[in-house]
Amino acid sequence: MKYRTILLFGAPGAGKGTQGKILGNIPKFYHCACGEVFRNLTIENELGRIFLDYSSRGELVPDEPTVQLWRENIVANTRTGRFDPGQDTLVLDGIPRNPNQAEMLRDTLDVRAVFYFACPDPDKLVKRLQRRALHDNRLDDANLEVIRRRLENYELETRPVLEFYGPELVHQIDSTQTPTTVLRDILSIITRDE
Ligand code: ADP
Repeated sequence: MKYRTILLFGAPGAGKGTQGKILGNIPKFYHCACGEVFRNLTIENELGRIFLDYSSRGELVPDEPTVQLWRENIVANTRTGRFDPGQDTLVLDGIPRNPNQAEMLRDTLDVRAVFYFACPDPDKLVKRLQRRALHDNRLDDANLEVIRRRLENYELETRPVLEFYGPELVHQIDSTQTPTTVLRDILSIITRDE
């Protein structure tokens, strides 16, 4: 059985995590942020060390271990009952992050909508990331060079995922709006099918 899924998609700092947390609090929605799954690993864990190595350089972790870790995490949360695939919509944030990951997850995800958090002004993204660096204790947000690298890699590697899913599924949201207005825009699309 495929997981019924909505994807939160956009550059680092576009606000996917903020919206994902809110949506995940609505009954029958389950938020899963791939970056959080990585950050919950410890340095004793081999993949935790690999993650630190890549993320501190602003690079993506290789696809195989990423997708495997993500699968293990979702299965574990299904077992504990936090995620109920029969009832819940998965709100996915941070994965798939390139077309190959999208291909690897083709048989796992039933993607109903992709919310593309568009931000025309990269400086705005940089400012948001720098602000959250201390707040969230994220080393990858503290260094301007690393931020720039992530934004470049987003353009090169991640943005093509939009073409994988195609225009029928992709809804562009103006991520420079206030969080409440972004939420309103997302909810107005989600509730169209209710
Ligand atoms: P952001 O959206 O601000 O980049 P995330 O928490 O989504 O923050 O990701 C942090 C880091 O975790 C990424 O820079 C990358 O190194 C790694 N990562 C997260 N998700 C993936 C993924 N699907 N594939 C590869 N690397 C990932």
